[in-house]
Amino acid sequence: MIDYQPLYDLLQTTKAEAWAAQLPSLLQQAFDPAGHGNLAQWQAALADLPAAATQKRLIDQDTVSIGEAGELSISLSAFEQQLHAFCPWRKGPFDLYGVHIDTEWRSDWKWQRLEKHIAPLKHRLVLDVGCGNGYHCWRMLGAGAKMVVGIDPTLLSVMQFQVVRKLYGEAPIYVLPFALEDLPTGLKSFDTVFSMGVLYHRRSPIDHLLSLKDCLNPGGELVLETLVIDGGLGEVLMPEDRYAQMRNVWFLPSCETLALWLKRCGFTNIRLVDVSTTTTEEQRSTAWMRFQSLGDFLMPGNPSLTIEGLPAPKRAIFIANLP
Ligand code: SAH
Repeated sequence: MIDYQPLYDLLQTTKAEAWAAQLPSLLQQAFDPAGHGNLAQWQAALADLPAAATQKRLIDQDTVSIGEAGELSISLSAFEQQLHAFCPWRKGPFDLYGVHIDTEWRSDWKWQRLEKHIAPLKHRLVLDVGCGNGYHCWRMLGAGAKMVVGIDPTLLSVMQFQVVRKLYGEAPIYVLPFALEDLPTGLKSFDTVFSMGVLYHRRSPIDHLLSLKDCLNPGGELVLETLVIDGGLGEVLMPEDRYAQMRNVWFLPSCETLALWLKRCGFTNIRLVDVSTTTTEEQRSTAWMRFQSLGDFLMPGNPSLTIEGLPAPKRAIFIANLP
């Protein structure tokens, strides 16, 4: 079981103190196995996992690496099977006691693209909105953050985080089973807020940006990563239906449009630090994610288009501040 007390204690010293007071009951509700079909099974699989048993805890490198083969009390193949119970693993890579989890995404590549541009995380309280299984949260902790709080409404991702956290041991890092809209307004407590791969899933992207702003301290930093299109000011793509087979994609702005959205929402010092086309090396099916992946969602013979004939995924990273 994760001990959330250090999280409550730290939040008590911020404007998020009212949220801190509600968190124990909110978490109890969210982790109630009656609320989700697979939760009881995942919780049992988590309980069966061996406890942390290592000094090797490397979270400041591309592959988040914990422990070595032979340090656990069970066989490598039994352990590997336990980890497979939490498939599909989409974000990583992780190396856990000798088992390499080759995830659908090379999430380390996104981190490489942004790490040199962000304000140093040392001593900062960090929020990662839509953090998935928390891969980037570990990198944030590895970069010296005082505490990292991730939120994600997908329970399997939260359970994957708990797997890694159990194998790692105590650390000031938490992934909570919430959407951004579940957080109370006016938190104004975090020094850096990340939102990566979430904005295009939102029906109201401006509201998403305003909610992110509402989580930040004055002077705090937003790191925003999302799908964009080529084009000028005012241009936005709204897919008629699916985008790269995803049903829940709403708005893909041009970079100029997104910069204006940020400005209109009250952010300053808005910087576009990276634009990258997503490749089938960065996102692909693996032994740990056996479903279809990007290569199946691009136009056969023309990787510059999605299977629907729309511009293929291209992602931008913006950094901005609150006054
Ligand atoms: N940030 C990670 C994961 C991106 S995948 C990365 O960049 O690699 C997008 C994640 O956003 C999913 O895990 C999904 O569950 C989560 N998500 C979707 N809607 C959300 C919302 N309203 N609030 C917070 N997270 C959300």
